[in-house]
Amino acid sequence: MRVIRDTAAMQALAIERRSKGVNTALVPTMGALHEGHLSLIRLAHEHGDEVDVTIFVNPTQFGPGEDLSRYPRTLERDLELCRKEGVATVFCPNDGEVYAADHSTQISETSLSSGLCGAYRPGHFDGVVTVVAKLFNIMLPTAAVFGRKDFQQARAIQRMVRDLNFPVRIVLAPIVREPDGLAMSSRNRYLSEAEREQALSISRALKAAETEVAGGSENAEVLQRAAEAAITAAGLEVQYVACVDADTLEPVARVGRQVVLAVAALVGNTRLIDNVVLQPSAS
Ligand code: AMP
Repeated sequence: MRVIRDTAAMQALAIERRSKGVNTALVPTMGALHEGHLSLIRLAHEHGDEVDVTIFVNPTQFGPGEDLSRYPRTLERDLELCRKEGVATVFCPNDGEVYAADHSTQISETSLSSGLCGAYRPGHFDGVVTVVAKLFNIMLPTAAVFGRKDFQQARAIQRMVRDLNFPVRIVLAPIVREPDGLAMSSRNRYLSEAEREQALSISRALKAAETEVAGGSENAEVLQRAAEAAITAAGLEVQYVACVDADTLEPVARVGRQVVLAVAALVGNTRLIDNVVLQPSAS
C-alpha cells in the first residue's frame, strides 16, 4: 500500500494510472476509521480496479468553536485498517499540502446545502464541496463512495458533480450501525457511557418513525413531533427533526415515497446526525 503525503506526487501517480487505463474508486474520509468507513472501502472495491482512501481533517468545513482541534486523529491505526482492506493508495496530506496559505477560491452549492445542517453550520458545505472537488482533481477517481449517514453532504456532492461536470460516478453506501442501533461516527468517541446511552434515543426515534410509517402513518408533522419529544426526553438538545424529500431536501407534509427523516442533536458538546429513509406501506 502506498502512503502519500505530497499533493504533487499524488497527482502525478493519479495521472500515470489514468494513462495506463487503471480505474480507481475513492473513499474520502477524515480518519479515525470505523466499520462505517470500512464498509465504504469494501463497496469501493466493486467500483474500481484500485481503491484509494484519503485521510484529511479538512479545516474549511469546521466553523469557529467546532471540534477541529480535538477531532480524533489515529493515523497509524487507520493505515493498518486500510492495509487489511486491500487499499492501494492512502493520501494523507497535511493542511499546507491541500490549501495554499493564500488560497482564495472555493465552491458553493447553494440550494441543497442551505437547510438542515447548513442552517446550523454556516459555510460547512462550502468547505465540504470545495475539498471534495480538490480531492477529485488530485486523485482523479473514476468513482467515489460516500455514506448515507451524511445524507445532505452526499446530495450536495452529487449536485456539485452534476453541475460542474466532474467525470466521477458517485456511489452511496448504507448507514452502518452499532448492534444497539447507534449510527457509527468518529465523534462517538467523545461520548461518555451515559451520553452514549442518551444518544441511542436518536436511532430509537428513527426506528419508531419507520414502524409508524410502515403501519400507515403519513403525517410528517406528527412523526417529527413524536421523534423530537423522544429525543428531547432523553436529555438531548435537538437542532432539527425533519421529514424531507430525498432529492430536493425540501420539507414535506406527507410521507410519500422517497422521504428521509433526518435528525441533528447535541448530547453534551457532541453533535450527532442520523437519518432513515421512510418506506410507506404499500396500501
Ligand atoms: P468522515 O470521516 O466522518 O468524514 O466520513 C467519511 C465517509 O464515511 C463519509 O462519506 C461518511 O458519510 C461515511 N460514513 C461515516 N459514518 C458512516 C456510517 N456509520 N455508515 C456509513 N458511512 C459512514
